[in-house]
Amino acid sequence: MNPINISIVQPNFRQGGNTFKGYWLPYSSGCVYSYSKETEEFKDILQLNQLIFRREEIQKVVDKVFADDIVMFSCYMWNWEYNKALAELLKKIAPDVKIVFGGPQISEFYLDTQINDLPYVDTFIVSEGELSFNQYLKDFTNNRTEKIYRANRVQDLNIPSPYLTGVFDNIMQENPDVKWSTTLETNRGCPFSCSFCDWGSLTYAKIKKFPEEKVYQEIEWLGANKIEYIFMADANFGIFYERDMAVTDYILDVQARTGFPATVNANWHKNAKQNVIEIVKKFISNGFNRGMTLSVQSMDEQVLDVIKRKNMQTSHLGDMMDILNAENIGSYTELILPLPKETTETWRKGLCDVLEIGQHRSIEIWFHQLLENAQSNQPDHKEQHGFKSVDLPDYIMGDLEPDTDQHIPEVTSVVVETDTMPYDEFLDNWMYAWMIINFHCGGWSQIVARVLAMDEVQTYQDSYDTMFYKMQHDDGIVGKIFKETREMLNNYLQTGKVDGAHGHTLFWHANRKLHKNHAEVMEFVQRSFNVGFDLMEFQRNFVTDINAEYPKNFNSEYDYMSFITKKIDKLKPGKFRCRADVEKQWNTEEQYLEWLYFRRRQGFGKNVIQLSRT
Ligand code: SF4
Repeated sequence: MNPINISIVQPNFRQGGNTFKGYWLPYSSGCVYSYSKETEEFKDILQLNQLIFRREEIQKVVDKVFADDIVMFSCYMWNWEYNKALAELLKKIAPDVKIVFGGPQISEFYLDTQINDLPYVDTFIVSEGELSFNQYLKDFTNNRTEKIYRANRVQDLNIPSPYLTGVFDNIMQENPDVKWSTTLETNRGCPFSCSFCDWGSLTYAKIKKFPEEKVYQEIEWLGANKIEYIFMADANFGIFYERDMAVTDYILDVQARTGFPATVNANWHKNAKQNVIEIVKKFISNGFNRGMTLSVQSMDEQVLDVIKRKNMQTSHLGDMMDILNAENIGSYTELILPLPKETTETWRKGLCDVLEIGQHRSIEIWFHQLLENAQSNQPDHKEQHGFKSVDLPDYIMGDLEPDTDQHIPEVTSVVVETDTMPYDEFLDNWMYAWMIINFHCGGWSQIVARVLAMDEVQTYQDSYDTMFYKMQHDDGIVGKIFKETREMLNNYLQTGKVDGAHGHTLFWHANRKLHKNHAEVMEFVQRSFNVGFDLMEFQRNFVTDINAEYPKNFNSEYDYMSFITKKIDKLKPGKFRCRADVEKQWNTEEQYLEWLYFRRRQGFGKNVIQLSRT
């Protein structure tokens, strides 16, 4: 039989800024390819020409693949526009090449529209690709391929590994200076079906496990091949506690022997019991990771009901936070704005509830993205909840390729209005979150707000509603930054353009200006809370001052730190010597300002304050 020449296109953004050159191995299309390549039928005739993993100039890619029989594209939000542009050009130049599109971007709901809009695509594969692509190849050899292949799930996950079968060997040998990231999959599927997520609908509710032996062999391969960063692709790592703990121990063992991986990240089990923290602790102790994500998406019961997350036990979130905080384990919490049924009232209360349960380090807010195969993208769901959306360029992006000026922006469809949250309120609610993230988590008002809340003087919501009002009406630097940021947000949503920031980073854009105006920002905080000199002095010293010399000593009449970290029940007067320090000093002002963003989850911008009685 004639050989079948095939190329795979699964590009992703470059990572690492100027610090290093990082890329993702194209794992999912590697799985699809190796599944067929390892069969008797195709093992001798399937020939892999190119494996495109980066966003090269599309003409250069066409020059490499125009003589192939098939070019298979794995499509998702981070390469959809790039893939379309490349496929269109390829079809124009080499009309005989068969173009196959698969991946999570191929829509269950809008497939007819995609077929209509993308005439240069010969075949669409919906959902899991291994079985469908294998059937496609069989049909290709018989010259009778179909337009659409709908997947059956792979029932037995004892399938070939792209790592162990050498799919990536060539690109790794050809790119010795790249630091690789990749995915490790120990199971597939998710028992939940959150409306905004395309995972449940794609891989269905039943979780299927990969054979343990195969997972261990892959971990050995990842260590031997010096893979820097592993992302556990499981939707709920820790759900099979004993098995997942054994996998964790295996990774630790491989790291001890090979020095790799350096970093491991995971989607933690959403109904995590406290024992999952034991796995997190192992991740942290080995330097894999700095904390645990505790995503809530919303704190309102009605919203959670609509988005089908009510079955998750958010009630024990506070217990988890207490353990994480007591053990000094970092954590961060994600929410989405705006979800269906969320109102201004529930949103602001929810954010303050997140503070109430003990999350003071890191909160992230994501726009409600309409993922292609998520329930929230279904026409009737959108209509039922009055979604209005805009298409945003570059909401999620990495570094651009240094060897080309060609930039094909990826576009994300995000909800900006619902029947319970009009557009203007959405803007204000984003700004309310901006205030909590920058002022509370960023430290400017955190000590005061925590002391007042824990001393039962004023709830978080009372504090931050007041501050929000004052911010909106402030004539000083804070009011100016607030108005500028709201305007930038509005402009981005209306025109797709935003100067000086991109997409999600807009949240932290103003932090540079806040830190350049330390004294004036603190005066604003003082006006908002109107607390005594001693507490305000403590607050002032909590936020790193770019112009101060550290360590810095000051006096306090109360041990505020022990009070807010629940080490003492009551504030008792005394005489305390305080030493404010920063973990590591910056070298230049620009480095300081950059670290405010890049090291925010590690707490950069806030001082460690140690107290001793005098
Ligand atoms: S958000 Fe997480 S828990 Fe919910 S369906 Fe998606 S993968 Fe599953």
